[in-house]
Amino acid sequence: MDRRQFLTKSILGSTALVAASALSVTGYRFWPESGLTNPCLTGLPNDLKNHPLMAKIWSDIDSSQVWDCHAHMIGTGDGNSGVWFNPSMNSWSHPILKIQKHFYMNGGCIADQNSDVSYVERMVALSTEMPHGYKTMLFAFDWLRDGQGVADKERSIFYIPNDYAASVAKQYPQYFEWAASIHPYRADALHELEKAHNNGARAIKWLPSSMGIDPASTKCSKFYQKLHDLNMPIISHAGREDAVLGGNQAHGNPLRIRRALDAGVRVVLAHCASHGNDEDLDNGNKSVKSFDLFSRLMDTPAYNNLVFGDISAIALFFNAWAIKPLLARTDWHQRLINGSDYPLPGILPLISIKELAHMGLLQKEQVPFLQDLRNYNPLMFDFATKRLINFKGNVFAKSIFETRNFFEKPPA
Ligand SMILES: [Zn+2]
Repeated sequence: MDRRQFLTKSILGSTALVAASALSVTGYRFWPESGLTNPCLTGLPNDLKNHPLMAKIWSDIDSSQVWDCHAHMIGTGDGNSGVWFNPSMNSWSHPILKIQKHFYMNGGCIADQNSDVSYVERMVALSTEMPHGYKTMLFAFDWLRDGQGVADKERSIFYIPNDYAASVAKQYPQYFEWAASIHPYRADALHELEKAHNNGARAIKWLPSSMGIDPASTKCSKFYQKLHDLNMPIISHAGREDAVLGGNQAHGNPLRIRRALDAGVRVVLAHCASHGNDEDLDNGNKSVKSFDLFSRLMDTPAYNNLVFGDISAIALFFNAWAIKPLLARTDWHQRLINGSDYPLPGILPLISIKELAHMGLLQKEQVPFLQDLRNYNPLMFDFATKRLINFKGNVFAKSIFETRNFFEKPPA
């Protein structure tokens, strides 16, 4: 067996393992319905452009108000961008990281050469196919840092500088906005926050479990005060994190973000904490669904204007169970915000359209349209899937997609 065969076998072997565990956990029937690899097709064909479902997904939506609040920038760092990926992600001694990187890169249709630029070019190409005014919010991503706020490269998975996200958003103001990522323990955290705000950042992105941030720590207090003064929201991952490993999963507990809410900071809990379990810190630390803790925050009257949920990655096979409860809670819809979590919608094995149909969330006739659309434009595919989801007449309200005001004209 040569090296190439070995690698292929390893990918297939590990993927099969992941698949087998997915199957056993979820009773998943249709994996992987469209293969493992994104074909990265370009140029939306007319039969998709003119498809009746295309008209349906954009009907009654004001596309100039649609800001996708959750998209990742990735790359290999070959473009002088400052982007950094942990080299262990290239090594088969870390097979899970290696495979993850492979899927991320393929989901974003990254080229071997000029990979950083090719990632942005793909996003630009996808954006040109969206209706006028549609924008995507690009996330910077800070290092994993220690208790003193010092970067710990070795344990970080990747790093996307604020300046890079800002510069791409500035280069394509018609397509992109950006969110800064600033670890609150950094000695220069307040300075960086002010700088990012002046530079047009619309929010702060955290992934507490992978960045070494405990949102409940008093070390965050000054940062929260400043965010409150600037009226800037945090988009924080909540619940289990499998896409970016490392750090401390307990930091993703939705209840730990109360300190920010109590300081009057608006917080968007990513994925509505739909993945995994956390300790119920209010009730003897027993393990409950992270989503239940998200629900508790959403149902706390004092947090009515402060706590929000993003519905990014909600269609992923391990999160899709949460769609029905979210549809049913129409009283929450004013506080739900759409995001794609791009490039995840481009990673084919993560979303089964057939399974969503099997769950009664999509019509069978809609499946081929969505499958085709995904091969050309994962951003449009993600939007379309969520717009078409309907369970017993409950749909995601239009306001969930028209998110611009949340970031641009926040309440005083
Ligand atoms: Zn994400």
